[in-house]
Amino acid sequence: MRLSRRAFLGTASALAGCATRHASVAIPQARLAPVRVAADRVIRTIVGLRPYRPSGFVVRAEKLDAKTVIHNYGHGGAGITLSWGTAHLALEEAAKIETRSAAVLGCGVIGLTTARSLQLRGYSVTIYTKAMPPETTSNVAGGYWAPVTLYDRARMTPDFRRQFVEASRFAFRYYQSLAGETYGVRWLPVYALSDTAEWAPPAPDRPESEIEPLYPEGRTLTPAENPFGVKYAHRRDSMLIEPAIYLAALMRDFFVAGGKIQVREFADSRDLASLPEDLIFNCTGLGARTLFHDEELTPVRGQLTFLLPQAEVQYMTTGPDDIYMFPRRDGILLGGTHERGDWNLEPDPATRDRVLRENAALFDGMR
Ligand SMILES: Cc1cc2nc3c(=O)[nH]c(=O)nc-3n(C[C@H](O)[C@H](O)[C@H](O)COP(=O)(O)OP(=O)(O)OC[C@H]3O[C@@H](n4cnc5c(N)ncnc54)[C@H](O)[C@@H]3O)c2cc1C
Repeated sequence: MRLSRRAFLGTASALAGCATRHASVAIPQARLAPVRVAADRVIRTIVGLRPYRPSGFVVRAEKLDAKTVIHNYGHGGAGITLSWGTAHLALEEAAKIETRSAAVLGCGVIGLTTARSLQLRGYSVTIYTKAMPPETTSNVAGGYWAPVTLYDRARMTPDFRRQFVEASRFAFRYYQSLAGETYGVRWLPVYALSDTAEWAPPAPDRPESEIEPLYPEGRTLTPAENPFGVKYAHRRDSMLIEPAIYLAALMRDFFVAGGKIQVREFADSRDLASLPEDLIFNCTGLGARTLFHDEELTPVRGQLTFLLPQAEVQYMTTGPDDIYMFPRRDGILLGGTHERGDWNLEPDPATRDRVLRENAALFDGMR
């Protein structure tokens, strides 16, 4: 059914008054622009390695002779999402130590947000890093705000659950203060699509059940509202954080506040003795596997294919199955793959073709 603009506005305003009392009332949706998926619209295919730990990210302090190292690594598929939150947890550890000067190892999203959080509390900060943006895994990230691909359910401890929930809530709130062109952060509707199962809220034994209420306006679309050619569509709003814009903005803020960066690779944690700072934050992502002998850290490989940008596409999709689409300024991003234990950074043409095929089927099937 197509509504005229006047009929649409009339219906929408009539419904607006009762929306709070009757949240399940169907509100007409504006037609969504389909993504134009075609091999000749592909502009690049890239691969990144998510720094994954089955028992979840690490935020804790460790004594190393005269130095205190505060770890902040292992964010799996949610480093962009959680960064401000785990930086906040890491700084709580630092509050116990009397110094106003800190070293940060790593210049991905975790290093940069930790460094900025320190500066905002009056610390002087030097980042020591092997690579800087755009040469980090954080630049490969999709940038969807969602704490996912983070831990194995069987390995979750009550302590990790507490940190997960606190970090997610903090980050969700903090990112809202960065919304706008400067940081490349914006709210978008996201449609979770499936042919096999209707969307269901996370079970209470999962920490995600405490995050779900953060998302505004979540609801399952009726068949009449569902514009996708798949059986089930659930809609909610979340944020998209564009790494190319966002990480450059963080770097700029860091320099403006007097931060310094030294390009330096550490082969072993003993090398840290040579640093002038006694307070050190370890934000080396997957690098912590070698540097701090954390054998639990393992890559979860992800491959992304980008199409020419389409400004009229103003929504995200996840599913069906593994695929997802995020409309970024630097191209329409099509994912995704999750290959645990795979260190290969070369794009795989067969995977690219599959992702294109499945996304084409999805968007060609829209009405
Ligand atoms: C395909 C893909 C899609 C993703 N999508 C999303 C998404 O939609 N949302 C989301 O929230 N997350 C997403 N992620 C996850 C996100 O990219 C990571 O969780 C995040 O980038 C981790 O940040 P980091 O700063 O810990 O690591 P990195 O970005 O890898 O930074 C680590 C830094 O440490 C430095 N370093 C490492 N070892 C050493 C050493 N020995 N000496 C000196 N420096 C060192 C590196 O040079 C680098 O500067 C995605 C990841 C991939 C691969």
